[in-house]
Amino acid sequence: MTRRILVTGGAGFVGSHLVAALLERGDDVTVFDDLSTGHRAAVLPGARLIVGDLADAAALDAALAPGGWHAVFHFAALSLVGDSMRQPMHYLRTNIGNGLALIDACVRHGVPRFVLSSTAALFGSAGAGAIDESAAIDPGSPYGESKAALERALLWADRIHGLRSAALRYFNAAGADPAGRLGEDHRPESHLVPLVIDAALGRRAEMSIFGTDYPTPDGTCVRDYVHVTDLAQAHLCALAQLNHSSVTYNLGNGAGTSVLEVIRAVERVGGRKVPVAIAPRRPGDPAFLVAASGRIRREAGWNPEYGAIDAIVASAWAWREAHPLGYAG
Ligand code: UDP
Repeated sequence: MTRRILVTGGAGFVGSHLVAALLERGDDVTVFDDLSTGHRAAVLPGARLIVGDLADAAALDAALAPGGWHAVFHFAALSLVGDSMRQPMHYLRTNIGNGLALIDACVRHGVPRFVLSSTAALFGSAGAGAIDESAAIDPGSPYGESKAALERALLWADRIHGLRSAALRYFNAAGADPAGRLGEDHRPESHLVPLVIDAALGRRAEMSIFGTDYPTPDGTCVRDYVHVTDLAQAHLCALAQLNHSSVTYNLGNGAGTSVLEVIRAVERVGGRKVPVAIAPRRPGDPAFLVAASGRIRREAGWNPEYGAIDAIVASAWAWREAHPLGYAG
């Protein structure tokens, strides 16, 4: 039987790659997205697009009205740590308010499974060790706080209403669809991998390294970069687990890569020098965020294909080089 699936934020970076994976296995996919940061062209043919705002209760009810849902995936959110440090109440109100409205609507419409895009930003003050699911939740930013609140709300939706859910804590999503259909296009771009590639391609004068005095081996922040297609596959693995119980998974490769190491990887892959400038730390950035993802590998059989940073960078490079204007091209 065809599975009917709603994807909020399905026109965004990670959401669009999940939609591709769902379509490939024959699911019936509806994207609900206000296109404030997503792109119409990122919704592959085969998926239905509803342009709507989660804060619009009538629009959300209308989207869910057909019923018969297998699952709802919730990507649509404000997602920049730095921005959330400048506009804390805006982030908390929007992400928590919209998320609660969606969870509530799912309960009312009898949706049985819910998958939340959560974040490594839950672990703001983690030390220099890989973070597993037992680590204390201690957000370093209002963005992380907003996701922590939704994880808690889902716990109650399960206990009281039987809504099974997966909380998927992404570490650093990067890369692009290996088939070249989709890529990363934020306006303005603030993520490390596309910015470094643009600097290498001469599309920006230089890229700024935010802080070289962190307590890490080379002084720059260490992150766990995960290929976006591997992340999409993790969603399918987690969804299958919801037939048994609600789950919480940290999603990363378990390998720490510093800002300087990402720059070196881009230089290797692209064969060009990256012009850099040293800049102050960006508020809200923890020094070290690396995932221990043993739980989803063990329980749900997740097996990332593109773990190496060079493979991640190569796919991002290919898309960015071919699409100088992103989806606008
Ligand atoms: N970063 C940087 N220069 C930039 C953008 C990001 O040095 O122009 C650093 C940032 O401080 C962080 C890492 O790169 O340590 C990844 O940042 P990004 O915004 O890509 O993802 P985040 O970790 O915030 O989710």
